[in-house]
Amino acid sequence: MKITILGYYGGYPENGVGTTGYLVQSDDFNLLLDAGSGVLLELERHIDPLELDAVLLTHYHHDHTADIGVLQYLWQLKRGSRKHPVLPIYGHFKDPLNFASLTWPDATKGIAYDVNGIDLGPFKIEFLETVHPVPAFATRITETKSGKVFCFTSDTTIFDGLSSFVKNSDLLITDTNFFADQAGVRWHLTTKETAEVFDESNSKKLIISHLPTQRDLKRMLSETKDYSKNPNDIFLPVLGKKINLN
Ligand SMILES: [Zn+2]
Ligand SMILES: [Zn+2]
Repeated sequence: MKITILGYYGGYPENGVGTTGYLVQSDDFNLLLDAGSGVLLELERHIDPLELDAVLLTHYHHDHTADIGVLQYLWQLKRGSRKHPVLPIYGHFKDPLNFASLTWPDATKGIAYDVNGIDLGPFKIEFLETVHPVPAFATRITETKSGKVFCFTSDTTIFDGLSSFVKNSDLLITDTNFFADQAGVRWHLTTKETAEVFDESNSKKLIISHLPTQRDLKRMLSETKDYSKNPNDIFLPVLGKKINLN
């Protein structure tokens, strides 16, 4: 299983880096996990988007879905051979209006995922609803043939059950949007909370993502490391970097 980081900011893109999106690959299967602003441009540096097998959205906030509309136009308009007649876009059904927008005639088709888990090509995907202002789902993606696990928290504040859901992952990517001293209502994890989830989960490698714009990312990293017992296994995301778990 290979994971390529296509964008890592929360909220809006900045300095050539988009918001959330990951290309998750196994053999020739290409899954796009979230499609934030700028993600389609970065995806095109790696594969022809007509080669996608599926898209999966963790929730319907714009920094995770902004490029869905232009991806639908691409499937409608771009000349070339489509891998499939229509591109399936998996989303939850707790917001019927946004779910309906995933279908675009002769281009894409929205498919409501069963939050109890689905089999999608070479992957088994499990879901856990997070704590966020809109319905959002953390994903646990297991490559069936190898047993390798990639977990993504999606957007969430801290809650009981998150660490156990992402336990023993080979790669954990977390929504780390705040410094440890952030006060008030929080809909994302702080550096300290991310470090605690990482340590409790016994995961092998952590990449902090959904990072804040206009902040010192090196401080985000150093704070996360300071709160963890495994600082050497924690990294900042690198745009376009492919992480091979096999
Ligand atoms: Zn977000
Ligand atoms: Zn969100």
